[in-house]
Amino acid sequence: MECNAYFVVGQRVALIDPGINPRRVLDKGREYNIKLNCFINTHCHFDHIGAAPALLRMGVESMAHELDSAAIESGDDDLVLGGLFGKKPLECRIGRKLRGGDEVDLGGGCVLEVVHTPGHTPGSVCLYEPVTKSLFTGDTVFADGVGRTDFMGGDLVQTEEERKMVFGGEDVG
Ligand SMILES: [Zn+2]
Repeated sequence: MECNAYFVVGQRVALIDPGINPRRVLDKGREYNIKLNCFINTHCHFDHIGAAPALLRMGVESMAHELDSAAIESGDDDLVLGGLFGKKPLECRIGRKLRGGDEVDLGGGCVLEVVHTPGHTPGSVCLYEPVTKSLFTGDTVFADGVGRTDFMGGDLVQTEEERKMVFGGEDVG
């Protein structure tokens, strides 16, 4: 479904955006001998979180911004968009509700800072890892633009403000 999934490895391992196919990410983890501790969703869209119920059944801890967690937990398909991908509405519990400024400490000096970036969805977040200066943007920022803002909960003005924050107000096209 063209969702990028990332393993971030400290003493514990986080998966950023499981995507839609649990087998695919778990097989990739096995390939690198990775035991998954938690997943963090950048936002509530089904193509990023469809694999969540299977991971939760395995005891993996779940995290998402509190605003998108509410959409996920209530099975609000207008926001989660399972139907758009030909799937049933998703209903699962999110264990840790995140806010901007929170940190996810994976141990071993590996910390992900939560940056609240509403616009694509109300509870979209970017995750920043300061040692490698890596920013995991979900659908907030792409290499050549920003994520769609025409779905319910989307807001182009909010996204433009985030873009200016990231790129310093320059027009990057
Ligand atoms: Zn999205």
